[in-house]
Amino acid sequence: MIKTEIITVNPKAIDQTALARAATILRQGGLVAFPTETVYGLGADIYNRDSVKKIFTVQGRPGDNPLIVHIYHWEQMTELAREVPETAKVLAQQFWPGPLTMILPKKEEIPAEVSAGLPTVAIRLPAHPVAEELLRQTGLPVAAPSANTSGRPSPTRSSHVIADLDGKIELIIDAGPTGVGIESTVLDVTGPKLRILRPGGVTREMLEAAFGPELVE
Ligand code: AMP
Ligand code: MG
Repeated sequence: MIKTEIITVNPKAIDQTALARAATILRQGGLVAFPTETVYGLGADIYNRDSVKKIFTVQGRPGDNPLIVHIYHWEQMTELAREVPETAKVLAQQFWPGPLTMILPKKEEIPAEVSAGLPTVAIRLPAHPVAEELLRQTGLPVAAPSANTSGRPSPTRSSHVIADLDGKIELIIDAGPTGVGIESTVLDVTGPKLRILRPGGVTREMLEAAFGPELVE
């Protein structure tokens, strides 16, 4: 057991100092639970293998379940992905910040643990002021699966996070309830067509409206 610190941040009047502290903990290898517009996420520095491994340990997460990498600026895609097709840029423009996760070919530098050994990486830019400011202050891509233990529902309140992860992680940022708990859409952007791997906040209809039904598998 470790002592889990819980801080409250008002998303309408963000306490920069509190988030600076959270960012420092992330940069030093700690785990920080933070709100996004979908559910609460459990964050770790993607370049710190031990921190990423800790996510799997504290969640009891199977080693073959890859993590979503969270960014605050769309250009970070080029740091993470070997190739960024034009379609990915259009998707970013249309749906980021928002509940869309893009699967792209991964760069070698990203530790294998992040993507559970897959040659691809999942990337998303969340639309929550606290998440955006935390990611900006951290200055690093942050791996963040939903902040629940494996098999439990994805948390939409800090109380859910506390129930699952108190005593196991360094910090929980309580910023009130998130949205309705619909997760991000996981979209494979590596092929000639867009492939929905997990339905979520960005619907098939929205993708078809943007690209035409023939481009969405
Ligand atoms: P969670 O945030 O806990 O809902 O978990 C992240 C989910 O994103 C995984 O369970 C996968 O469904 C999906 N995901 C993450 N990375 C990849 C990837 N490289 N390829 C396909 N799906 C992925
Ligand atoms: Mg999950």
